[in-house]
Amino acid sequence: MPVSPLEPLDAYAAATGTCTRCRLSQGRTQVVFGAGNPHADVMFVGEAPGFHEDKQGIPFVGQAGKLLDRLLAGVELRREDVYIANVLKCRPPGNRDPQPDEIESCEPHLFRQIELIEPKVIATLGNFATKLLSGRPLGITRVHGQEQPLTIAGRSVLLYPLYHPAAALYTPAMLKVLEADFARLPELVGRGVQPTPVAAPEPEPEPEPAVAAPAEQLGLF
Ligand code: URA
Repeated sequence: MPVSPLEPLDAYAAATGTCTRCRLSQGRTQVVFGAGNPHADVMFVGEAPGFHEDKQGIPFVGQAGKLLDRLLAGVELRREDVYIANVLKCRPPGNRDPQPDEIESCEPHLFRQIELIEPKVIATLGNFATKLLSGRPLGITRVHGQEQPLTIAGRSVLLYPLYHPAAALYTPAMLKVLEADFARLPELVGRGVQPTPVAAPEPEPEPEPAVAAPAEQLGLF
């Protein structure tokens, strides 16, 4: 039987399995590279693996993941239809926030994933993914549900910031907003990718509110 060549994304995942670019490699059970359709139109980018993800090697398998599955089902999508990844591929100890140097070290993996998957829409879940991929410091409370054409990894994509499901789990009002934002996903995918007329805007520092809400400090919204 002919041996089918490895998908380029699988080959990259295998290479990433031994990554030691940052300190998180020391405490992880395994690298949580990402999962789903390697040619998906929609890619979700969360924050970092948690306890269960670290054990199972699959993103979003805990409570937040169950909510993500429900939200996907609400727009007639299954996990296998989309691709799910995180900003960080290794679990931060005690699920603490990603640190800037960890994000910087891990960033090439995410950009390579985007290059190989070529999604039309990238839905960022929460602050960390949104700030990294938009290149802007605006928090998720300000920008959720506002699609933004961008050039990422050399490709035109629609960036679509969403609240993080982990934040919405405990805040019914936020869950309502997340559901409403989610409901627009099929329309955004259907639009297709328009060539980006101008390069991604330069980050323009805008101060965050002086007093951040507790979950904002968690980086979830
Ligand atoms: N939260 C994330 O951001 N990513 C996961 O994989 C799980 C929970």
